[in-house]
Parts: sequence; C-alpha cells; structure tokens
Amino acid sequence: MKKYIRPTVGSKENQEAISRIIMSKKLGRLLLSEEIVHHINGDPKDNGEENLLLVNRAEHKKIHSEIGLSTRFKRIYFFNDSKILKDYHKYHSATRIAEKEGCHVITVERYLRKILKVKRLKAYKKEKGGFSNE
Ligand SMILES: [Zn+2]
Repeated sequence: MKKYIRPTVGSKENQEAISRIIMSKKLGRLLLSEEIVHHINGDPKDNGEENLLLVNRAEHKKIHSEIGLSTRFKRIYFFNDSKILKDYHKYHSATRIAEKEGCHVITVERYLRKILKVKRLKAYKKEKGGFSNE
C-alpha cells in the first residue's frame, strides 16, 4: 500500500509543508511519503514553482552532498575560521564568500552563525554597529 502524506500547515511557519502543497497542486495529486520537494536555490522560504524540484531520497541526498549543504546528512564544509571571519568583515556578505569558496551561500551562513554563535547574522551585524551592504 502506498502511503500518502497530506500536506498540512502548522501554526508556526512550516516551509516544508508549504512547498509540498505547491508541488502537490502543480502535479494535481498528493505527494508520496518518499517524495521530497527540494529547494533548488537552497532557500527554504523561496517556494516559487521554479525553485521546487520533486526528488526521491537518494536523489535528494546526492544533490545535497554535491552542493555541500547538509547538516541533515552530516556532511560539513570545513572553512578556515579566521579566514572566513576576515572575509566576512571585509565583504559583509555571505554571498560573496560563497562565490569565493565555490560553495552554497546557505553553507556559509550556517557556518558563520555557528562560529559567531548567533541565531541570525543580522543580529550580529547590528551588534557590530551595522554593516552597510547586504
Ligand atoms: Zn533539498
């Protein structure tokens, strides 16, 4: 028997559920439990149809190990802490660092949040008196 997961929207923001609803509507059917909706640009908040890709677990794992984005699959990108901090203070932009390092911006953001011990990079910027760009 095939197991279907009915998309639900919880009281708190549930981006994964939202992306499943959108994909479900696009396909005109409910999604199977083994079907995963991947966000192509790595931003889980971007639920635009063109950013969503329906994959299975194996495909999903492969995509994520390729882009190096993956606390989920325990593959962690290793940066040089002092170098990345220096770059961050220089460019004030995770996007810029990601381009330089050739990895995904989400990976850089996660890493920075981890080494700076902040929940959001914006909070860190504010504390530092605010960076002008980004
Ligand atoms: Zn994904």
